[in-house]
Amino acid sequence: MNKKLRILQLYPKDMNIYGDWGNVLVLKRRAEWHGYETEVLEHDTGDDFPKDIDIVVGGGGQDSGQGRIQDDLQRAAPAIHRLAEKEVPMLVVCGLYQMFGKRFITRQGQEILGIGLFDMETRGGDERLIGNVILQSDEFGEIVGYENHSGLTNLSSSVKPLGTVVRGAGNNLSAGNEGARYKNVIGTYLHGPLLPKNPEIADWILEKACSKKFGDFTSTVIDDRLADSAREIAKTRPR
Ligand code: GLN
Repeated sequence: MNKKLRILQLYPKDMNIYGDWGNVLVLKRRAEWHGYETEVLEHDTGDDFPKDIDIVVGGGGQDSGQGRIQDDLQRAAPAIHRLAEKEVPMLVVCGLYQMFGKRFITRQGQEILGIGLFDMETRGGDERLIGNVILQSDEFGEIVGYENHSGLTNLSSSVKPLGTVVRGAGNNLSAGNEGARYKNVIGTYLHGPLLPKNPEIADWILEKACSKKFGDFTSTVIDDRLADSAREIAKTRPR
């Protein structure tokens, strides 16, 4: 029997816009190409938080969706923190990225509590920041994605961003950085979805999950020419 990875998607009913579910599809398909089985689980409000999770993925949502999940997310917070401390890889995008920080204050002044995994907070801004984004990151080289948010995120000085903005807005309009890192947790504003255009990040997540669970990661060479073209095309599109 093949080795199996359990992938958890957080709040797909409320937090899954701009194709964020595609991140789960990419992890599942690439894991299978590398020779692993996968099981995809979903956690929505009211569900019991599942056990034995190897990868956690979460997407973006409207402010209203963030409001709907906030109580349940507080309930799940201890389990998520435990997984993060055990170096389980996670990818959280936009709305859930904001809620992995300490709090999000909407444009209307409503406070939505986060779980404080990243030492950062977000405030709703006056402008929507929309368009293709290019980042440069130490670990993954160039990252290409698409942002659509009005929240402006400020990282505390101890938090490492995912990358430096080459094109686009990123965390806010002045810091020149995008996303956040904590252990094997990646937070980012980048939709697209992110992983089809950035397979290196997908394989990094799989490598972390497999090394932790099975002691090693056996990979195969995957033809990523389509992903490469998608990146190149996104880079030439107007913002
Ligand atoms: N509501 C948040 C914002 O606009 C998150 C948006 C999103 O997840 N795309 O800042």
